[in-house]
Amino acid sequence: MTGIKKRFVAGAICPACSKMDKIVTYDDENESYRECVSCGFVEKLSSMMEKAKEKVESIPVNIVTHPVNNIGKKKKDADES
Ligand SMILES: [Zn+2]
Repeated sequence: MTGIKKRFVAGAICPACSKMDKIVTYDDENESYRECVSCGFVEKLSSMMEKAKEKVESIPVNIVTHPVNNIGKKKKDADES
């Protein structure tokens, strides 16, 4: 067993041979695929969910350093002007 589960897609029509109920979908570690068990057509599904996940993970984080040394100076300037 490879651990890859293939699932038939009910009512799906193969874009290559136009046969119905021959399409299975399965995932490997990185990608999702659909495959026609009749003619061997395979298509990689570029899932939008994967792209969304990448976006979330790449949100820049603002690292706030402690501006202790500047606080006194800035306050003084503000008060004087
Ligand atoms: Zn086919």
